[in-house]
Amino acid sequence: MSTIPDLASLHALGPAQQPSYADRAEVDAVVDRLRTMPPLVFAGECDDLKAKLAEVAQGRAFLLQGGDCAETLAGVTADNVRNKLRVLLQMAVVLTYAASVPVVKLGRLAGQYAKPRSSDNETRDGITLPAYRGDAVNGFDFTPESRRPDPQRLLDVYNASAATLNLVRAFTTGGYADLRQVHTWNTDFVRDSGVGQRYEAMAHEIDRAMAFMEAIGADPEELRRVDFHSSHEALVLEYEHAMTRTDSRTQSPYDVSGHFVWIGERTRQIDNAHVELLSHIRNPIGVKLGPSTTPDDALALAAKLNPLNEPGRLTFITRFGAGKIRQGLPELVEKVTASGVEVAWVCDPMHGNTFEASSGYKTRRFDDVIEEVQGFFDVHRALGTWPGGVHVELTGDDVTECVGGGEELTDLDLSSRYESVCDPRLNRVQSLELAFLVAEMLRT
Ligand code: PEP
Ligand code: MN
Repeated sequence: MSTIPDLASLHALGPAQQPSYADRAEVDAVVDRLRTMPPLVFAGECDDLKAKLAEVAQGRAFLLQGGDCAETLAGVTADNVRNKLRVLLQMAVVLTYAASVPVVKLGRLAGQYAKPRSSDNETRDGITLPAYRGDAVNGFDFTPESRRPDPQRLLDVYNASAATLNLVRAFTTGGYADLRQVHTWNTDFVRDSGVGQRYEAMAHEIDRAMAFMEAIGADPEELRRVDFHSSHEALVLEYEHAMTRTDSRTQSPYDVSGHFVWIGERTRQIDNAHVELLSHIRNPIGVKLGPSTTPDDALALAAKLNPLNEPGRLTFITRFGAGKIRQGLPELVEKVTASGVEVAWVCDPMHGNTFEASSGYKTRRFDDVIEEVQGFFDVHRALGTWPGGVHVELTGDDVTECVGGGEELTDLDLSSRYESVCDPRLNRVQSLELAFLVAEMLRT
């Protein structure tokens, strides 16, 4: 079995997108402390998720992966976590019921605190400071103190992730995710929207189906709880390396900071540190693939990251953009499939569709998001391959960050409730609309 390279040799590869810490001794002390902390997830849970993702890879299940672009430490509140979970549960029930397909539920949460940036620095009014790289690295406030990379934040991320996972576990097994709550999830502002009413009608049908089951004496455990897993981008090497442990049961290394970790579009260089580190862990993993990805790039990644060609181990998350997917995706899928590589194909319809609105806000059009998912489905349908899932940035709140959707948000609405510290997220109504549209795509 492979041994994990030490941190220094990973850094010697010159990894992209790392914080430039001033004091190495302080970083080392944090890493040592993190190595003593208990695992946030168990190896066996990662294996369960891998088995579910094998079903996705083989065309028998659909992945719903979603959450914030960037979690924040201040955002770890009971309301915030519950709202995110609630919208994901609603979306999952729409997909499961309307398309009769098992849905694998994966949060972009409990660890999504580090961000790759297109530029190392940010300039405002003639002042240049380090770019915000996520709460794992520095603060969002535009001051020299806040923007200084602080290694202690990695311990805060560990604690925030533990608190989030604890809540998620309580919600998903303690009754909140019971399918008999299907109406309760549809509260507040959503219920009065068009899509909220559509959901309500569907929930009534589910009630009737459950009443029927109860009448015949069936009471399956599956109605009472859901399986829900965590995921984030494995970006800051110090954190992911410190959280990589040998599982006592199998003697295999797992990154116990989350069930599923992925490599971003900017750090997927085949000979570099992120691919190297993730090649050694046994978790299910993902790689983001943008429009510049060649079939050879994808095949090299699959060979290095999944040499045993195990289904469920590797997910390719494509993020081409609505205008590029129909042209670019077919060759990639065709060649990867022809070479016999086992992979789950998932569509991230967010990251290829970002632009700056006239008001200056970073935004996305709901229609572009839908158009990319439709392109993804059309390409896979034409090739006879399985469109395995969607990876979306969303929130359980009523924010105004993406334009369009049934509420017809415009550029002018963006300022009213723009809360993301990084990329724009679908709000709860837009997320539910997306779920109904994707369910229709799955059905046809
Ligand atoms: C992200 O998922 O927030 C992200 C930065 O994506 P990508 O690596 O695809 O650009
Ligand atoms: Mn993002």
